[in-house]
Amino acid sequence: MQVLYRKYRPQQFKDFTAQNHVIQTLTNEIEQNKIAHAYLFSGHRGTGKTTMARLFAKAINCQNRKGFEPCNECLACKEINKGSAVDIIEIDAASNRGIDDIRSLRDSIRYRPNLLKYKVLILDEAHQLSKDAANALLKILEEPPKYVVFILATTEAHKMISTISSRCQRFDFYKLTIKEIVSKLERIAKEEGIVIQKEALELIAMSSDGALRDAEGILNQVLNFSFGREIKVEDVQDMLGVVDLSLAFEFVEFLRDKNISEAVKYLNEKIEKGLNIDEFSKTIINFLRKLLILKISKDLVDDIAMGETKETKDRMLDLASQFEAKNLKLILDLFLGAESKRMFSSIPQLPFELALVDYYYKS
Ligand SMILES: [Zn+2]
Repeated sequence: MQVLYRKYRPQQFKDFTAQNHVIQTLTNEIEQNKIAHAYLFSGHRGTGKTTMARLFAKAINCQNRKGFEPCNECLACKEINKGSAVDIIEIDAASNRGIDDIRSLRDSIRYRPNLLKYKVLILDEAHQLSKDAANALLKILEEPPKYVVFILATTEAHKMISTISSRCQRFDFYKLTIKEIVSKLERIAKEEGIVIQKEALELIAMSSDGALRDAEGILNQVLNFSFGREIKVEDVQDMLGVVDLSLAFEFVEFLRDKNISEAVKYLNEKIEKGLNIDEFSKTIINFLRKLLILKISKDLVDDIAMGETKETKDRMLDLASQFEAKNLKLILDLFLGAESKRMFSSIPQLPFELALVDYYYKS
């Protein structure tokens, strides 16, 4: 199977899932023929900077453009889509960061473009250029040939030298929201004829931290394991190595019953079976936090328990209602304390056992 993020890379501006603020300005410039000589696309990884750069390069070179969208059918569009347009030069500054790289770049823009209207130079990870290279680049940016457009992309705009950034029109790319990622994944699933639970998509979106490319990569991996059957949230949990929530439920139910001896026994059994104490405390603290928030407001359940099934959400609401808020807060405090003491304890579970005893006497 072709890698999803390549297959579903936007070929027109209307296909973009996010970054509307960027699209609006860029498409205006295209329509009014007011192309700048240098752009700076900054933002978190996987937010579409390079994709936008290629799309913009295509749109300004399309021979048959209607409005601002490239036609994807003319020779220029086709060459660019194939990645074989010699006038579109992509450089990864992470591996080509020296002065010689910028000098050869300078040589390559000495001549007018072959086929296209503009030569477009896309410089990825531009902040990684060496100091000399950055200064050489600055020289070029001071007097760029008319037929050249620079697009610098960076995940760390603050590391760019200011004399370069100030010569660029800057656009900040935002991390995608969970909703935006889910909607793109839904579209891919539909096109591919994949049946996948909405909660599974939400879990993928949540774990990708706003980077669409990562989300598409996870979906790709899940597909490779699914062999054509429906994909459930459990499949994604397995793949991502998320600790099973049933563990959190069982443990916290002992706390609800103030059955400390069972809680201690349960903790020790799990550790003997190879459960990592850090994973355990992270899972429990995260779970208790959710219960506390649900205790305060049931309406937040869809946000708090996003990626969980309806049954799990109901079970969480139920469990939260069986606790007093002050006790949830107490155990959460005690566990946070235990977590910070863990590193100084020769017996990793001891701080948690002490927290449980404290809870017994204080609740
Ligand atoms: Zn075209």
